[in-house]
Parts: sequence; structure tokens; C-alpha cells
Amino acid sequence: MPTYSYECQSCQHVFDAFQYMSEDPLKDCPECKKEGSLKRLIGPGAGFIFKGEGFYITDYRSKSYKEKAKSESQSSSTSSDTKTSKTST
Ligand SMILES: [Zn+2]
Repeated sequence: MPTYSYECQSCQHVFDAFQYMSEDPLKDCPECKKEGSLKRLIGPGAGFIFKGEGFYITDYRSKSYKEKAKSESQSSSTSSDTKTSKTST
């Protein structure tokens, strides 16, 4: 499920919402309850999400690096690589 960032044009409240692609974009601000005040952020909002995901991947990779260094005979770290590449769409 993709994550969308919204910003309220009325109170500047910014939040992320999980929505299906087929769902209509949100319009009403959950903070100030003003109808039609939400604006969907595409550029900077998405960048923020990717940044967070990158942290997760690098953390995962460093962990597998350690495991690889610890036991070089085992090749179990390759399975975690396929898992992370799957989520990149
Ligand atoms: Zn608001």
C-alpha cells in the first residue's frame, strides 16, 4: 500500500496516510477538521518516505555484513537481499 503525505492548507498540519491507489485523495484535515483543506504532497513528501526506507535497508545490510563476516561459509544473507529488493516498487 502506497503512502501519501498530506499538508493542510489551513493549519499546516502534515501527516502520512496509507491508501490504495484506487482510493480518492483525502480532503478533510483531521487536525482542524476543515473540509477541502488538504493538499497531497508529491515531491518532498515522497523523498522523506524513501529516506526512512533507506535507513532500514542500510541497517539491514550492515547486519548481514556482520553475519557474513562472522560465518563466511554460510550464504544465508542472500535471502534477505531478495526480500528488500521486492519492496522497491
Ligand atoms: Zn488543518
